[in-house]
Amino acid sequence: MKSIPYGKQYITDEDITSVSKALTGEFLTQGPTIKEFEDKFAEYIGARYAVAVSNGTAALHLCTLALGVNENSHVITSPITFAASANCVRYCGGHVHFVDINPDTYTLDIAKTEALILSKPKGFFSGIIPVDFAGFAVNLEAFKALADKHGLWIIEDACHAPGGSFTNSNGIEQNCGNGAYADLAIFSFHPVKHIACGEGGMITTNDENLYKKLLLLRTHGITKDPELMHQHDGGWYYEMQTLGFNYRFTDFQAALGISQLKRAHEGLVKRRTIAAKYEHAFKDKPYIIRQSGSIEGHAYHLYVIQTENRKGLYDYLRTKNIFCQVHYIPVHTMPYYKELGAFTLPIAEDYYSKCLSLPMYPTLTEGEQQFVIDSIHSFFTK
Ligand SMILES: *Cc1c(COP(=O)(O)O)cnc(C)c1O
Repeated sequence: MKSIPYGKQYITDEDITSVSKALTGEFLTQGPTIKEFEDKFAEYIGARYAVAVSNGTAALHLCTLALGVNENSHVITSPITFAASANCVRYCGGHVHFVDINPDTYTLDIAKTEALILSKPKGFFSGIIPVDFAGFAVNLEAFKALADKHGLWIIEDACHAPGGSFTNSNGIEQNCGNGAYADLAIFSFHPVKHIACGEGGMITTNDENLYKKLLLLRTHGITKDPELMHQHDGGWYYEMQTLGFNYRFTDFQAALGISQLKRAHEGLVKRRTIAAKYEHAFKDKPYIIRQSGSIEGHAYHLYVIQTENRKGLYDYLRTKNIFCQVHYIPVHTMPYYKELGAFTLPIAEDYYSKCLSLPMYPTLTEGEQQFVIDSIHSFFTK
C-alpha cells in the first residue's frame, strides 16, 4: 500500500525542463534568472522588493542583521514555530522572549505580547517576529499598531503562508509578506513548503534601505556597483563594506522556482479544497478540535487538528501507512532554550500535547483523503 505523508513536493516535467535549460545556460549561481524569480515572486506576493537567498533560515538571519540585532536586543516570537524563527535572534547575540499563543488560532497572542512589552522598561524590546503558523495569516495591522506604539520592528515569518491573506480594518485584503505592515517578511523553498526549490528562501520588503542592505549582506558585504563604492580602481575592483555571508541562491534553483510559481495559485486552491473537505468531515465531531478562522485567506501549509488521544491516533494512522506529523514541539522547551531562560506557556504546551498535522498537499487524491478521514473516524468509534 502506498504511504500517505503529511506533506509532499510536486515536480512536473515542465519543472525539469526549466532546470535543464538553466543548467546549460551561462550562469549556475547568481545569474539573471534569480532577478527574474525575485521580480515574479514580489509581484505574486504584492511586495516592492524581493531578495532570494540560500534558505529560509539564512533569510531570517539576514533580516536580524539588517535590522541591527545585537547583544542588547530583546525580541518576541511564538513558541509554536520551527526553531529558526527564534534562532535568527541568537545568531546576532540577541535575547529571545517567547509569548504564549492564542488558543484558537495557534499564533502569537497579541494581548499577551502587549502585556509583556508593558511589563518591561520603555525601549527594552526591539522587535517582534510573528509567524503565519500553518498558513493562517496573522493580523499584522494590529501588530503594526502595537509595534509603532513601542518603537519596534516586525519580521513576518511567512514560510507557511505564500498566497495567504487577511482583511484589514478598511476591508482590503493584505497578502502575507506584502510589506504593508511588517518591515521584512521571509519565505522558504524547502520541499515541504508551497514552492519547492530543494533549498531556498526569499525576503520581501517595501523598504528600499533594507533592500539595499540585504543585497550587500547576501554576498559577503561586497559590492561591485561603482556608485556605491568609497573609492575606485581598475575594472577588477570591488569593495567589502560590511561583514556579510555567502547566502546566495542559484540560477537553476531560481528556474525551478519560476516554474513552480506558475502553479502556486492552483496549488493554493487545491489546498483549500482539501481543507474544506476536512472541515466538513470534522465539524460536528467532538473528538477533533480545529484551528479557527476561515478557509479563505488561509494558505494551508499544514492542516492541524487537536485531539485528546494524539499519540494513539498518530500510532493507529501509521499502521494504515498514513504518516502524520507534530508541528511543533514548543521551541522554549528545547534544552538549548531552557538553558537560556525558563518560560511557562500553558496554552502552547497544551496545544503541543494534542496537535497533529494531517496530510495536506496538492497531489493528495480525493480517495487518499477519504481514506485518511475514514481511518480517523474508525479510530475514535472502534
Ligand atoms: C521552514 C521554516 C523555516 C526555515 O526555512 P528553511 O528554508 O528550512 O531554512 C523558518 N520558519 C518556519 C516557520 C518554517 O516553517
